[in-house]
Amino acid sequence: MWQFLPKLATELSDLVLARECIGCEELGTLLCAPCRNKVSGRAHIMRDLRFDELAEDLRIPLAIAYRYGPPVDAMIYRYKDNQIPELASVLSMLLAGSIQQLASSEPDGSQKPLLIPIPSRDASVRARGFDPMVLISRHLSRAGYPIAHWLIDQRTAGRSKTLGTADRKNASYDAFRVRAIPDRYVRNPIPAIVIDDVATSGTTFTAAVSQLLLSGVHVSGCAAIAGARKL
Ligand SMILES: [Zn+2]
Repeated sequence: MWQFLPKLATELSDLVLARECIGCEELGTLLCAPCRNKVSGRAHIMRDLRFDELAEDLRIPLAIAYRYGPPVDAMIYRYKDNQIPELASVLSMLLAGSIQQLASSEPDGSQKPLLIPIPSRDASVRARGFDPMVLISRHLSRAGYPIAHWLIDQRTAGRSKTLGTADRKNASYDAFRVRAIPDRYVRNPIPAIVIDDVATSGTTFTAAVSQLLLSGVHVSGCAAIAGARKL
């Protein structure tokens, strides 16, 4: 019986929230066609993340689907708080747009890259009852992308709030650890793209990518649904 409860809760929140558009509050749909058009097809490479500590001049591009602001910020909040399936679908399409931006700049754009999602903090997963990126990854998997859940969260809940900037930067480097990489990948590594919902300072991506590179993963880019330039 308990297995049905999360699904029921999701359906109920759909009914309540589907009455007006998240973007413009027009009644009738969760995200009206004009608002959907406004945020689609805007994916671009925002900037390069630097990994000078690992190798001189090592840069990895970060692509976003849309700037962090209305209506994408509300779409992401609502999805993470309520696990609305329709939003997971729209957000995964937006993320696919930024993944394609990166793939189109690769010499062999025909092969789909491996996607490595950034896991939520353990505390958030417990509070929400799901990991938002896992659900989005499932949509991308159906679209043909291989998914590798190789990152393990080891951030302590709330700890970074009490640290100064320098400490926070150091703490972020052991934010994740990497699972044992399968032999078949080590023998034949394909380009991998690290994915997340929001990129602000890039610290989370940088921490995750550093660990993956050190584990021998061929990371070619990072992709997020929304991004804010905040350096
Ligand atoms: Zn609208």
